[in-house]
Amino acid sequence: MAKPIPICPRCGQPATQTLTPKGRKSRCEPCGLWSNGSKPLRDEAGHQAHGARVRARQNAHRFFDPLWKEGLVDREIAYTLLAQELGIERDACHMSLMEAEIARRVPRAVKAIRASLLKG
Ligand SMILES: [Zn+2]
Repeated sequence: MAKPIPICPRCGQPATQTLTPKGRKSRCEPCGLWSNGSKPLRDEAGHQAHGARVRARQNAHRFFDPLWKEGLVDREIAYTLLAQELGIERDACHMSLMEAEIARRVPRAVKAIRASLLKG
């Protein structure tokens, strides 16, 4: 089944899709926004910000996941502690929802959580 064609967030028109050796690309020519496949269209700054956010989230996972994978606490409690440490709502405390600036604070927060868990 064909994936939906992304709609340009600037002009509201559907993107033009082309097949390249690297796969399908979506593009809004008038606005200069593009994406790979059917992902949301972004401009250059948007792609860079998105890349930074993805890297920060991956890094956050690398620090955070061992907390519950090692069995120090269960996963749900680990997220609750992380939310407290970051000063954000528990519901907002998912790596996939975090802005880069919050995700970048995760490694230090995990350090603090580990320290307080070890203290008992
Ligand atoms: Zn457009």
